Amino acid sequence: MTAPVSAPVACDDPGVYRTLLESTKAIPWRIDWATMRFTYIGPQIEALLGWSPASWQTVHDWADRIHVDDREKTVNFCVAQSQAGADHEADYRALRPDGDVVWIRDVVHVLRRQDGSVEALVGFMFDITERKQAEDKILQLQRELEVLSYRDSLTGVANRRMFDTLYPVEWAKARATGAPLSVLMVDIDYFKQYNDHYGHMQGDECLREVAAALDAGASRTRDLCARLGGEEFVLLLPATDAESARTVAERCRKLLAQKKLPHARSGVGRLVTVSIGAGTIVPGFKDDPAVFLDRIDRRLYQAKSAGRDQVCDTET
Ligand code: GH3
Ligand code: MG
Ligand code: MG
Repeated sequence: MTAPVSAPVACDDPGVYRTLLESTKAIPWRIDWATMRFTYIGPQIEALLGWSPASWQTVHDWADRIHVDDREKTVNFCVAQSQAGADHEADYRALRPDGDVVWIRDVVHVLRRQDGSVEALVGFMFDITERKQAEDKILQLQRELEVLSYRDSLTGVANRRMFDTLYPVEWAKARATGAPLSVLMVDIDYFKQYNDHYGHMQGDECLREVAAALDAGASRTRDLCARLGGEEFVLLLPATDAESARTVAERCRKLLAQKKLPHARSGVGRLVTVSIGAGTIVPGFKDDPAVFLDRIDRRLYQAKSAGRDQVCDTET
């Protein structure tokens, strides 16, 4: 039987440590606590940041080479942590002589003497540029997704989620300012017959055309045109009185009529038309936004039963 070989626990050749330190991608450094001067920095620093090892003299050289937007925060944090004797790490943008930036993660350890007093700070600088770029990309994608999640993918106008988000906001604004808030509910006439006759693909195209007409009809910056689902749309018109709301509704009908979309199976004519329910309110504390929408929905169905292809803005 062979005797177990005990693993070496330490290496007494300092050259081994130096070789290891200076061949890793992380850049080692040491700062003397009393003088705040670098007593060592790995030669790899020059390849990464472009400054020669000899140019790293004091903590001021380190601070001066931090991007101005990160400098104060990073220096204050590292000084406070070091004074408290706490190991820490900081992410910041370091500057190269050519002005390029490199994202650094600095991992810092506090070295103490036997009596507990701080002797030095030692650490490693890691290049985390790629990781930061990946994080930025993810953030950007998240923002894009958020925008998309408020869009109706078929028509490109806002979706119900956007309406549900904005309606209470505009309601509250109207209540606070006393400005009238108008809402139009729009439904395509005989759309089932349209689909049956022209097919679903053509039906989708028709929805896009109607959405474009409505979106163009509600032209003020705070106006919102959203598809609620199916062939139903809503227009949210802040600071709009009843007369202006009717003007917008008629403009939408006119813009749609100008598109001259054929509808061979319509019960009201030869073209695609819409029916619109309209309402205007200066909300008071007793008013309920859901009740107001129900009232407009009833007017939409009044417009339907009165013959379609029209606007209804009063109870009959
Ligand atoms: P009315 O004049 O009373 O509004 O009748 P209508 O036929 O328009 O209403 P109904 O609610 O009976 O039919 C709506 C149709 O809308 C049913 C469905 O085929 C169609 N539809 C709903 N969503 C979509 C869609 O995303 N694409 C297409 N192509 N059609 C849709
Ligand atoms: Mg409908
Ligand atoms: Mg319909």
